[in-house]
Amino acid sequence: MLSQYHRDICQRALESKFSSRALEIIIKANIAQDNLHGLVGHHEYHFDDNAFEAGYAYLEEQRNIILAVLSDGGNIVPARKAFGRLTHAVQDFYAHCNYLELWAQSFAEDELPPPHQVDALNQTIINHPDLRSGRIYFREVLAFIPFLRPFTRRILPADSHANMNIDYPERGAFFPYAIEAAVKRTLHEFELLSERILEIGDHIALKRFTDLSTSV
Ligand SMILES: [Zn+2]
Repeated sequence: MLSQYHRDICQRALESKFSSRALEIIIKANIAQDNLHGLVGHHEYHFDDNAFEAGYAYLEEQRNIILAVLSDGGNIVPARKAFGRLTHAVQDFYAHCNYLELWAQSFAEDELPPPHQVDALNQTIINHPDLRSGRIYFREVLAFIPFLRPFTRRILPADSHANMNIDYPERGAFFPYAIEAAVKRTLHEFELLSERILEIGDHIALKRFTDLSTSV
């Protein structure tokens, strides 16, 4: 997904949960996942190339970093950066795999609910045997050059990232659904994490993380 959408999604999902300075750290770490280092050989950062298991392991790794930082009581910034990395991955999930397509299959074409009613956490679809994310082919690098994108899509297979992604509005009708699903999932990840923080610590630990006294 393009940076501006990651930023909007984080703001919509989390602006009432974190102080603006804490949220800014999260957003910067989220967007930094798309720098060159994060794009090459890190399919788990973006749920690319069918790296579902690696993606879920990466999410858990980030949660564990956050819990360790909070238990430790030291500098809080690494915990917020880890949450930024986690939110990037879950937001990309809906734009890089066929989750929304599988979800839409349970509705008649003219009865698809509006984007804000999308079910972002359907476990049957998350575990569906036909769930696939776009494969990264070497020729994919051409898609970095905007005017070559239509050409790149023609020369790449249907299961490529170039042909499967819903990263920006021109990619079609599912784009608003990808945004709404990502907002819901981001909020869900915050709630999940809050529960785990309260299990190991207390409201003070959560307050340190969010920089707000009433996040939950
Ligand atoms: Zn990404």
